Amino acid sequence: MESQGAPITLAGTWFAAGSSKSHVATLSLDSGVLTLSANDAAATFAPGDVHVTGLDDPLSVDFPDGGSFVATAGDAGARALLAALRVGDSPVARLEKSWRTVIIAAAATMALTALFFFVILPAAAKPAAMIVPQKWARIIDDQTMIILDKAAFGASTLEDDRRQELEGVLAGLVDQLGLDADRYQLLMRHGRMMGPNAFAMPGGTIVVTDQMADFVDNNDQLRAVMAHEIGHVEERHGLQQLLRGSTLAIMLVMVGPDAGTISHLASGMPAVLMEKGYSRNFERAADLYACRALTGTGEGTEAYARIMEKLMEAYPEAPAGAAWFSTHPDSYERVVMIRGYRP
Ligand SMILES: [Zn+2]
Repeated sequence: MESQGAPITLAGTWFAAGSSKSHVATLSLDSGVLTLSANDAAATFAPGDVHVTGLDDPLSVDFPDGGSFVATAGDAGARALLAALRVGDSPVARLEKSWRTVIIAAAATMALTALFFFVILPAAAKPAAMIVPQKWARIIDDQTMIILDKAAFGASTLEDDRRQELEGVLAGLVDQLGLDADRYQLLMRHGRMMGPNAFAMPGGTIVVTDQMADFVDNNDQLRAVMAHEIGHVEERHGLQQLLRGSTLAIMLVMVGPDAGTISHLASGMPAVLMEKGYSRNFERAADLYACRALTGTGEGTEAYARIMEKLMEAYPEAPAGAAWFSTHPDSYERVVMIRGYRP
């Protein structure tokens, strides 16, 4: 682009290429042509061929032959010349500027995306999870059990007496913790390949495998496992994790959940339980909930730490999904936290 407007003339000093010897000179811009005058000679340049290195005062202009002109400090024309030359940025300079713009825009987009997924979405998922009515949450449990009974569980082979005893363990804990007894139900299932395991679903269904019931040394250890699962239910980790995957589902829940929304959410629950597991933060939260609950009842956290250790000893390889703690990362760290917990 040509620089137009009134002629601008600057007084200053010219240095020839490779020389530190200064010459009194003037630089003028007229009708889009730069004219350098020094030692009674003059040379002309196109504005696009020079490079302005001084940003303000003193302004400095480098010429393609290696020479340079430095305007006298305080020359009022410097700012006008600078503005005029800026208009005539070279295509490369314009491209550099646009690349910088592209990079800044991309970084801003990434930051906003991260903010959305790691801050805004989890923050929105929590209140949405809290307002899902219990009847809808229980429907998620029921739909999830239909899938898991086909794909993962077998029918329980425990004796009726033992099953009733375990239902009593859960009911006793729920009662002692002052929780809603109607919300909770214990389902016993054969865990097949997954071995000793336990799961919590959004509506308060807790599944304990036969293998877990056989594996524990005593019912106190089962109470500890159940306390952890109750933590997932009370803090609505299942619903939060499902809602974090979908802005649309959050909005639908906010305006009032219906069967379609709930069914859509429920379809994600088997994968949360069997593959992905709850997030690490939710596991820590459930641990803390269990520690608080077990110290609150006066029994302390030793049985909890012990069942974790026992599982780690029995399943040192801990293939994914094969044991209760394998969906719960950082097992050693957790045992230390559980044993050291003080209310
Ligand atoms: Zn857990």
